[in-house]
Amino acid sequence: MKPEGPPMDEVTGEGAKKSDDDQSQGVSRRRFLEVASATAGVYAADAVLKPGEAEAHRKCIDRDPRFRQLAATREGGRVRRNEVVVDPVYATKRNFTGKPVPGYEAKEAWIHPDVAGKLEKVQTYVRNELMRKGFNMEMAAKIHLIVKDGYRPHKATEAMAGWAKENRVGRGYISRGISGHNQGKTIDVALGIRVNDDTIREIWMGSRFDEFSHHSNHGQDGRKLDSRRDNPYSYQGLGYRTPRNYSTLTRSSRNAFHRNLRNALKAAMRKAGGRSMKSEIWHYRFGAGQCFDRDID
Ligand SMILES: [Zn+2]
Repeated sequence: MKPEGPPMDEVTGEGAKKSDDDQSQGVSRRRFLEVASATAGVYAADAVLKPGEAEAHRKCIDRDPRFRQLAATREGGRVRRNEVVVDPVYATKRNFTGKPVPGYEAKEAWIHPDVAGKLEKVQTYVRNELMRKGFNMEMAAKIHLIVKDGYRPHKATEAMAGWAKENRVGRGYISRGISGHNQGKTIDVALGIRVNDDTIREIWMGSRFDEFSHHSNHGQDGRKLDSRRDNPYSYQGLGYRTPRNYSTLTRSSRNAFHRNLRNALKAAMRKAGGRSMKSEIWHYRFGAGQCFDRDID
């Protein structure tokens, strides 16, 4: 996918971006390198680990099996009514680099248990928010949360940064240094709608996932779906699909539709303790955690 918008000559860390409602997540590239070198492959956002601690932290993922709670939703399989759907795009070629990103071996999303345990609630909150915005109950009950990314191995962060540099995409969109994703407490999500027992289709909210343009920003108008470029986007039972009457919507009602979905998602995430980021409607952070460097395998 070719990025939109003017090329930028500087690549900055996702962690250095200003959060929509929180500015405390910045960790400089230099700080990241200091920490990384001090801990021989295991790194933390807020503290340099003492010698000996590195090994203990490395084992944390294995010690808590819930960390890898979310696995990819099975192709063609029945999706339970309240199931949070997982579509790990970086383990596939359906991401901005055009191929699976190194470090994503298994088609799973690994999420810290503190956050994974909240996702069903978030899904319920989204449905409630949508009902407040005029969705009827039957329609709202068909809405599912789709998790695109959670924990991200450092190898993957580096590969993404390399791609960004090569393609001159930058500031604010692709993590270069440490990112909340490296800690498993930051997630990328979308919304889907159940079309039958087996199929959830992603809803178009005005931008592609990882679209590097202002259309991906909270508070900005989304763009019209371009059926030649954006649809269909089929994968393991999921795909971009809009409401049946989408093409007949006027521009202002289409924008209102996008806004309602984006804002419902944001309100639900905030209610669960998540923080949004202005530049990416899909990115939510639930505090800091320890970082690990392990492939998703
Ligand atoms: Zn993200």
